[in-house]
Amino acid sequence: MLLFSTVAAVFEQIEKKSGRLEMTGILAELFQKTGKEEIDKLVYIMQGILMPPYKGVDLGMGERFAVEAISATSGYSVYEVDRHYRKSGDLGDTAEELLKKRKQTALFTSEMDVGYVYNVMMKIALAGGSGSQDLKIKYLTELLNNASPMEARFLVRYVLARLRIGVGDPTILDALSVAHTGDKSFRNDLERAYNVCADMGLVAKLFYEDPVNIKKFRVGPFKPLMPALAERLSTPDAIIEKIGKCAVEMKYDGFRLQCHKKGKTVEIYSRKLEKMTHMFPDVVEEIRRLKYEEIIFEGEALAYNRKKNRFFSFQQTMHRRRKHGIAEASLEFPLYVFVFDVLYIDGKDMTGTAYRERRKLVKKFRGKIVKAAESKLVSKAEKLDGIFRDALSRGLEGIMAKDLDSPYNAGKRKFAWIKLKKSYGKAVDTVDCVIVGYYLGHGQRAEFEFGGVLAAVYNSDNGKLQTIAKVATGFSEEEMMELREMLEEIRAKKPPSNLEYKIEVDFWVEPKYVIEVAFDEITVSSMHTAGKGYALRFPRIVKIRNDKTIKEITNCHEIEDMFNLQRS
Ligand code: AMP
Repeated sequence: MLLFSTVAAVFEQIEKKSGRLEMTGILAELFQKTGKEEIDKLVYIMQGILMPPYKGVDLGMGERFAVEAISATSGYSVYEVDRHYRKSGDLGDTAEELLKKRKQTALFTSEMDVGYVYNVMMKIALAGGSGSQDLKIKYLTELLNNASPMEARFLVRYVLARLRIGVGDPTILDALSVAHTGDKSFRNDLERAYNVCADMGLVAKLFYEDPVNIKKFRVGPFKPLMPALAERLSTPDAIIEKIGKCAVEMKYDGFRLQCHKKGKTVEIYSRKLEKMTHMFPDVVEEIRRLKYEEIIFEGEALAYNRKKNRFFSFQQTMHRRRKHGIAEASLEFPLYVFVFDVLYIDGKDMTGTAYRERRKLVKKFRGKIVKAAESKLVSKAEKLDGIFRDALSRGLEGIMAKDLDSPYNAGKRKFAWIKLKKSYGKAVDTVDCVIVGYYLGHGQRAEFEFGGVLAAVYNSDNGKLQTIAKVATGFSEEEMMELREMLEEIRAKKPPSNLEYKIEVDFWVEPKYVIEVAFDEITVSSMHTAGKGYALRFPRIVKIRNDKTIKEITNCHEIEDMFNLQRS
């Protein structure tokens, strides 16, 4: 049995290292000491979660309760714990420090193994109803009483859902393979399995039971797949040059849904793989009646007003539904799901099959709500341009060009799908950035105390977040206030551990919120760190992309492409 103290010592070691290779080595060693009955739990702990998001069991104890548990364990008053926390900025650090200087020694401590810690955390997460707050505090106190100060640091961060040891999923996958074979020979199979079930704990467990499991891992209902992602090009010519004859689909600016059916049971997952079934009773009903016993497909949900021949954004639609009820809103803003891919059907995994074959299945969707996305075969740039313009005139966002021969690349950004989007004003395009910090206001904005955000993109060459713009416009004052409040809640003492930056902010934040930013031009500046110092000229926020995770922000190489394109 793996002791939690061993795990905490490894976390401590990892926090100080930054090289991926080094981290992989350390983790692989830890994995070798881990048994098959506890590997899933260890992996979830490393990811800072209890279960994959779609299971709906979340950590995230209220800070107040954790403060009380730290107080009970250390003998310091709640007031003293709070005071220390205000200085340290991290309740985990506070727990560690105060436990070192404990006013009372625990009467009896016993060593905790990983399974025990995980199970208590699960009890904390699941405790509900009256008296559950006291129960949660009691469980955490129990853990802290048995913990060393260092263990306490990680336990507290974990229970608050803030355990960020800086180990990404790719590193965990590498380490699992290395632990087993000494090299990365299982890496690709492990990654594929993970991408088609989004459950690293399950993958690790099956791998430990028998590595062959991973080679024959199958897609299946109610195990949502990581969504395939699109690359971006800026002109019809560039698209045709890249993939030749292709299918051009409408790019619906809605809400991506992954729908699963088995028998009479239907589940719908968001792009972040959270369960959304309850929000779409009418869609669920129609899917339930499909003639397939089992199916997994993807589509984009949005409203279409036939009279006005216009599409409406998902936000507008959902707002209507909440306000007026589903039935009434459906008359004015009928919701459609435009199906654009089929990933699994009646026992058959379709992800390895070419787009042109999958499209044959997509075409069969002809329901009242659930319909096939429009698609046309195109081999000339002029024709593609025509479809693109038509899409814009109908209130759509642009088009998606699809490589006819490509499989479905779960969890990957590939040129199998290429998006061409409308420009905002003079802007070449928009990019998706993550907010890493924010500024207080000056002058007119001072009263709102908000002066914009520092935005970063991702560089896949070195795994770093790199800054690209300070964004202070685009939102109304009201929206800015709202954003500020959201950011206040995720303030951090230090910049994100994988951020490369040259300019300071008033407050750093946990990299969590993705924003879509429009701009006039990409320039090179000595202030920013994206690639060769790329920076956005006249950046403005278009919207907060709540539907995107930070894994989906724009990559530096896309910025570089846009920069080069702009020069030519
Ligand atoms: P973006 O969010 O700009 O990176 O564009 C990718 C998103 O476009 C996908 O995640 C889908 O939600 C959405 N989308 C809309 N229409 C399609 C389509 N026909 N095929 C694939 N994705 C689509």
